[in-house]
Amino acid sequence: MALERTLAILKPDCVRKQLIGEVTARIQKAGFKILGMKMTRLTKETAGGFYAVHKGRPFYDGLVEFMSSGACVPIALEKENAVADYRTLIGATDPKDAAEGTIRKLYADNKGENIVHGSDSAENGRIEIAYFFSESELVANGM
Ligand code: UDP
Ligand code: MG
Repeated sequence: MALERTLAILKPDCVRKQLIGEVTARIQKAGFKILGMKMTRLTKETAGGFYAVHKGRPFYDGLVEFMSSGACVPIALEKENAVADYRTLIGATDPKDAAEGTIRKLYADNKGENIVHGSDSAENGRIEIAYFFSESELVANGM
């Protein structure tokens, strides 16, 4: 197993539901080190760019609308096997399909408003972290 980085985003539904603390606690208890964390509000342009891989899919416009609808909290995470372990922690995209005890099963309302983002590969983890954080903002580097 390799030390990997992955990007979490606590999505606007997570912030609106006042779940920042609970979801962050679950991430930390699962052994992830937080390298960087901020609260920000995405514009439609920023949200659309982040999800550019999904452009043209039927849910894209709604996804961009939702992701720019309020504040969100991007979090840069590091751990052995971070990408797969984080996706196990959050569960399937649709909370109806998510395993018991996962973050999406516990807190998400539906497939679109599903509380958290997670990167899908180590390469995308690095690319997505760089979308939100400069290297100097990853303050836990070298801790
Ligand atoms: N999404 C949606 N409807 C779908 C598929 C995805 O609204 O049918 C949204 C959902 O918020 C999801 C995001 O688009 O988290 C990105 O989709 P992806 O398939 O990459 O799911 P994820 O990697 O987030 O589990
Ligand atoms: Mg994805």
